[in-house]
Amino acid sequence: MLFNKANEFRIVAMKTTDRNICQSCGMPIRSMSDFGTYADGSANTDYCFECYQEGLFTDPDITLEEKMARNIAIAQKLGMSRSKAHQMVKTKLPGLVPSG
Ligand SMILES: [Zn+2]
Repeated sequence: MLFNKANEFRIVAMKTTDRNICQSCGMPIRSMSDFGTYADGSANTDYCFECYQEGLFTDPDITLEEKMARNIAIAQKLGMSRSKAHQMVKTKLPGLVPSG
């Protein structure tokens, strides 16, 4: 039914424009193209494109420190100041990545 399709689309749109945060790096995901992708090319809404592509993590052996440094660089690229980026990564990452 057309109506249901439209509704489904709205739910997806809400999901993407809502505060989506990558479960791996904590980066906010703002648009469909920021999502990671499964092997079949569909969007993986749990992770961002930087972390997860075509069904695989881009850096399976990355350390927390490397990840933090990388995320700070990404956040700065998105226009965030270095100190703000640093704070965001520091407060978000340790909670997302299991320690030990
Ligand atoms: Zn990510």
